[in-house]
Amino acid sequence: MGQFPKIFNDLITSLARFPGIGRRSAERIAFFILRMPQDELKELARRMSEVQDFIKPCAMCNNFTTLDICSLCSSVKREKDVICIVEEPKDVVAIEKTSQYNGLYYVLLGSISPLEGLNSQDLNLGKLIHRIQKGEIKEIIISTDPDNDGELTAQYLIKKLSSYPIKIYRIAIGIPLGTQIEYIDSATLGKALLEKKAVL
Ligand SMILES: [Zn+2]
Repeated sequence: MGQFPKIFNDLITSLARFPGIGRRSAERIAFFILRMPQDELKELARRMSEVQDFIKPCAMCNNFTTLDICSLCSSVKREKDVICIVEEPKDVVAIEKTSQYNGLYYVLLGSISPLEGLNSQDLNLGKLIHRIQKGEIKEIIISTDPDNDGELTAQYLIKKLSSYPIKIYRIAIGIPLGTQIEYIDSATLGKALLEKKAVL
């Protein structure tokens, strides 16, 4: 390792911070970058920078969007009073792929995670509570991940939302604990949505 120039080592260190990328993969990517045609590399750097400049959370649901309100929230074809609560924007993509859901979403942008020091205050619930209080929502489907953090988050949401006059469901996941929504195949996930269980 010590034989690489510092500037190259620094790139490897930065790349190794990406999720799922260990030191060895970071080295391979760094070598790939070194040999990339200049124009391709510039395009990549521009795209990486643009996602931060242009993508922001939807003002209604926190989903990724380049507009103030995302295309799902502004769609006239969706049921506006049904909300599926998920942890991350990638869960919206996974659920949309099932074609079994026609309501709106609310993205928490995280979960309660004791190991990572995240508690209920780290959930971005404000906008959702506001809409519930205004009487805009009649049904909530909690679709947090079927792992420890997701379950903790679901239990907290059930407690927090139980005082409002809304129906609360939990996605019926007949799959092993410890997985994440994004890794569940579309057919299983679609079935879990259709068979959602009332929790209140
Ligand atoms: Zn939205």
